[in-house]
Amino acid sequence: MSLDRYRPQGQPQQKIRPEHLGRAAMVYVRQSSRQQVLEHTESTRLQYALAERAIALGWARSQVVVIDDDLGVSAATADSRKGFARLVTEVTMGRAGIVLGIEMSRLARTGRDWHQLLELCSLSGVLLADPDGVYDPGYYNDTMSEAELYLIRQRMLSGKLAKAERGELAIPLPIGYVRHPSGEVVFDPDEQAQHVVRLVFGTFRRLGTLNGVLRYLVDQEVQLPVRVHAGPAKGEIEWRRPTRETLQIMLHNPVYAGYYAYGRRQVEPRRKVAGRPSTGRVVKDSGEWLVLLPGRLPAYITPQEHEANVARMAANRQTAATPGAPRDGSALLSGLLRCGRCGGHRMTVRYHDGSVAARSAHGYTCAFYQVNYGTGGSCQHIAGPALDNYMTGQVLDAVAPAALEVSLAAAAQAEDERAMLDKLWRQRIERARYAADRARRQYQLAEPENRLVVRQLEAGWEAALAEAARLEADYQRFTEEQPKTLTAAERAAIQALAADLPAVWHAPTTTQANRKELLRILIEDITATVAGNSELVDVTITWAGGHQTTGQAVRPVARLNQLSYYPALLARVTELAEAGRNNQQIAGVLNAEGFRPPKRTSRFTGGQVRTLITQRGIRSQRKGQPAVLTSLPPGQWSVPGLAAELGMPTATIYNWIYRGWITARHAPRTRNWIITADDEQMRQLRERRARPPGFYTRARWAPPEQDGRQGVQP
Ligand SMILES: [Zn+2]
Repeated sequence: MSLDRYRPQGQPQQKIRPEHLGRAAMVYVRQSSRQQVLEHTESTRLQYALAERAIALGWARSQVVVIDDDLGVSAATADSRKGFARLVTEVTMGRAGIVLGIEMSRLARTGRDWHQLLELCSLSGVLLADPDGVYDPGYYNDTMSEAELYLIRQRMLSGKLAKAERGELAIPLPIGYVRHPSGEVVFDPDEQAQHVVRLVFGTFRRLGTLNGVLRYLVDQEVQLPVRVHAGPAKGEIEWRRPTRETLQIMLHNPVYAGYYAYGRRQVEPRRKVAGRPSTGRVVKDSGEWLVLLPGRLPAYITPQEHEANVARMAANRQTAATPGAPRDGSALLSGLLRCGRCGGHRMTVRYHDGSVAARSAHGYTCAFYQVNYGTGGSCQHIAGPALDNYMTGQVLDAVAPAALEVSLAAAAQAEDERAMLDKLWRQRIERARYAADRARRQYQLAEPENRLVVRQLEAGWEAALAEAARLEADYQRFTEEQPKTLTAAERAAIQALAADLPAVWHAPTTTQANRKELLRILIEDITATVAGNSELVDVTITWAGGHQTTGQAVRPVARLNQLSYYPALLARVTELAEAGRNNQQIAGVLNAEGFRPPKRTSRFTGGQVRTLITQRGIRSQRKGQPAVLTSLPPGQWSVPGLAAELGMPTATIYNWIYRGWITARHAPRTRNWIITADDEQMRQLRERRARPPGFYTRARWAPPEQDGRQGVQP
């Protein structure tokens, strides 16, 4: 026997020795399913022939034992196979000298239980045999060449594939599914887990982009329920932060549409890195999957929706990858816009390169003189999205008296969304309460002697209670934030008012090209004139048929001093600074009074105020009323003086000065205004003062949609 170890490879070894022949020859006959038993009678016959082979190898007929208890047993694990268990027992007890079966070498390499049997055989000095040969597990590794291993792998794969083709191979299940011990795949019994899956698909349906879904889930603090695959917590749900990749995998996975899919990831030999078994895997297109069986699993979405989702993601990717491709909202007005500065030359569209943020991706420019005469800069430039949005508002207002369909749909959507979130909240709280309850029971069950454990359990219980309380408080806040919902009657009234256009305009199927077409049907041309260098754009629309309307759009500007209300702003800041307010407070007042910073950002910050104050040297001014203003003759006023006289804020006085409604000049060598107003002018000012607040300001500074309502007729 010791010599055998040194025998060169490839030479026949004396494997069957007297100690083997002295024990039994076990013939193990198995087929995994009844169907196989019927279809593979040939192989069954072959397995019985193994008994003859044992006799040929030298065993006495009385020593041959056939184990066929597992014929037609379909379960794939050892515990449910009586025959296999019996075989293991025989080997362990040392009663077997050889085990014969079909493809023993293959089985020993693939199944975990078979591997265990192999080890037992090796320990007990038991041989293995199949129709191809006799193996000594003690020399197991020596007897298999690389080529043989490859063949084994191929046979294993084809076996797996055959199983997959019948939909019987256990495929890895995504979030939201579990497998029963019987092998059946069902929705995750955890209601919250199911709910989150539906939320993911619902949100994608609504928002249409992965990033949108991800942002939404993060905003709403929704986590994904992952069933742990291995380890002590196997099978339990672990709530994990959503990632773009996870969502992408979810939305691409056909399982959610009820498909049994196998071979979505296949190994591309050329991409394989030697020595790294998991490399070279590529995700194939759906047409190239090895197996795809519809309607095999419970579905969260329809196959149509799955296809639409995949197509949508592909389209999103394409849009992102194509440089300069017009995105949603780009250059709606190309070809319609004329310049009001230079006598109506057509304004052209300029697309910025990809480095510019998407919202300022295009702009309208009149470069008539520049292009045709090579002189000067452009007449005027208007950032595209600002004007596009304004025009969209105009058109919707003009065609549908109330552009309400959209807001109505949005309201309904918001309600559905609220309901879903509400449910999620309640589940979350229930879970937290349950956890607290469990912690309490654990604490109560602990042995009081074991202080360390008790203390820890107590801390755990407290933490669980605190978490439950926190969630309940958060939920309370969530319910209080609940937006008011429309009654059915209100809804019906609104629906009756709404026309089709807004819905068509905003429908996801409506392309930018469609919108341009709609505009061309409705509008002859548009003349835009930037007021000075300011943010205001005077817009004259010539509707089809020649009717004209005018309005004012607001464009982003780069600098504060381009703003039309810059003088009023400056005056207000000066006043507040003189009153001893700090930058932060000044910013707060400006925001409250409706001043807006340039670049269409929404709020002033303390930093912006500081810059302004430093640049203009406002703070260095001496506090208090300068002497020049304290003794003014009748008919002349300081700003605070007139404000007190008329009972109105000084900001409005500055505003009126700027607008030219008040006659004023600077006091010598200061920035303080001296106002001149006789009795008749004072009467007019009082009258103006009596008009409702915002009578003037709204028309000038309001967002474009509100501007548009004025004076627009279809
Ligand atoms: Zn021009």
